[in-house]
Order: sequence, then C-alpha cells, then structure tokens
Amino acid sequence: MVNTRATFADRLALARRLLARGASRPPVHLADQLAAAGSEARALHDRIGAALPIMQPGRQWYHRTEPRPSTGARAYLLAAVLDCTIVCVHIRRGGPRPAFVQLALRRVDCERCIRTLRRPPPDEGDRCDICGARGVVTFVPFAAHHGPALVMGDACPSCADVLGIRQEVSA
Ligand SMILES: [Zn+2]
Ligand SMILES: [Zn+2]
Repeated sequence: MVNTRATFADRLALARRLLARGASRPPVHLADQLAAAGSEARALHDRIGAALPIMQPGRQWYHRTEPRPSTGARAYLLAAVLDCTIVCVHIRRGGPRPAFVQLALRRVDCERCIRTLRRPPPDEGDRCDICGARGVVTFVPFAAHHGPALVMGDACPSCADVLGIRQEVSA
C-alpha cells in the first residue's frame, strides 16, 4: 500500500461530514454487517475491560460507557479509527461480530485475534493515538464504544478533553 495516510485534520473533517450526514459508523473498515454486533460488543466491553489491566499491568484504564458521547468526541474517535490500516480477516470476511480497535497498532481485530499480543511501534511511544501529536508526556488511556467497535488507545491531554475523559490523580 502506498503511504498516503491522510492527516488528522483531513480525517477529522471527513468524520464530521459523515456524522453530520447521519452515518452511524465509518464506511471503510467497520462494514455494514457489524451493526448487528452492537449488543455483543457491549457485552464484551466488560470482559475486555477486565482483561486490559492484566495485559498491561501497571496501567489505569478509563472507560466511557455512556451511550451517546458528544458529537465532538464521536468525530475524534471516528477520525482515529479511519487511520487504522489493518483489519483482521474475520472482520473483513465474517458475519456480525464485535470489532476491537487498537489505535496504537492501527488494527481492527475480532474477539479472537485481539488475544494475540502485539507491541506498538517502538518509535511511537510519545504519539497521541487520536491526533498523532508527538512528544506527549502524559497520556490518558481510554476505551470507548463506537457502534459495534470498542476503540482503545492513549489520548494526549487536549484529545482527552474532547473525548470527555480526564486523567484522575490517584491518591
Ligand atoms: Zn479475527
Ligand atoms: Zn491528541
């Protein structure tokens, strides 16, 4: 694939157009049949929520569970999902199933393929998974639903503001 990755601004503009038009899900990777997987994805949310701290001990994960995030938050999430370049074969070919979006890996996986542990590119440790800003020191990890997809990543403070999540200071 030729590297013609759109900038975050481009993807955000596209995401806003899609949302304004009433599209409820991204058109490219999360295909129409995924819509039916919504409730299953929500059911799996708790499970993956329990698994993430185990997979990445020492990290705190914050969960957004409200069904209707703000339009701004949805646009940011959608713009980030539009940057994913790898979709597992089951999501591409299969029937309705939940999709797990690991923004740091730019991957969309089914509930089986996400069990394969993969590491993000080592030179992207300072990169915001939403806007792509580099040099981020303090990340806010999050896991958020977007239709049938569970989107996971690390947001920089300004993206976290848009997403409505905050780094909580642990006592
Ligand atoms: Zn798969
Ligand atoms: Zn950001």
